[in-house]
Amino acid sequence: MPVFYEQIWSLLAGDLRLLTADTLRNQRGQRIPGTEGAVQINADRLMLNAHTGVYRCTTCRRAHSRCGPNDACMVNRCTGSVVFEREDHDDYDLMVLDQRFEMVRPREHSAQIPGDERERIERDFKGTGNRVNTLVCTPTLELGVDIGDLDAILMRNVPPLPSNYWQRAGRAGRRQRMAVNVTYARTASHDRAYFADPMRMLAGLIEPRTSICGTK
Ligand SMILES: [Zn+2]
Repeated sequence: MPVFYEQIWSLLAGDLRLLTADTLRNQRGQRIPGTEGAVQINADRLMLNAHTGVYRCTTCRRAHSRCGPNDACMVNRCTGSVVFEREDHDDYDLMVLDQRFEMVRPREHSAQIPGDERERIERDFKGTGNRVNTLVCTPTLELGVDIGDLDAILMRNVPPLPSNYWQRAGRAGRRQRMAVNVTYARTASHDRAYFADPMRMLAGLIEPRTSICGTK
């Protein structure tokens, strides 16, 4: 894994020059201690390119806005490949924009919310109406509640124990066997320690369930 990090870093900072060295200064113009070697995203290197068409799968006909590796179709279980289809200037069908882009419709799911209200939110989330498609939750959802298929989990801090991590991360990806799990590491020492050595969390000891309820 460190080799991967080094390669992607040298790609971003070297070949692409997307990251450039910078000196971070405080309001009085003095260099901020401990920030030697800091880099920032080079805004001049960011470019937006207008689309001129879509990549369509020859098997399932799904349109993609980008071409994946080896021209492979990115649809789950489809083994087709994509070919570029130039945009027709007389076609005002917003075919890429109209494809399954969903607004985020979040609700809070925490102990602050009365039980019957929480159950109503869970039903809306699991239902097909899509009235609620994102839950912002505390460990009220970590155990016990069947919330159905999830595509992604965002943790806003590093969980206390490996068992908490896997209970939260394992909520997603049951349907397609794939999920996006992102953990935000705060500046707290607990989060920094696991950010520096994530395998301690990922491969850590899972204790039998005893007293983990009620923690973060
Ligand atoms: Zn396909």
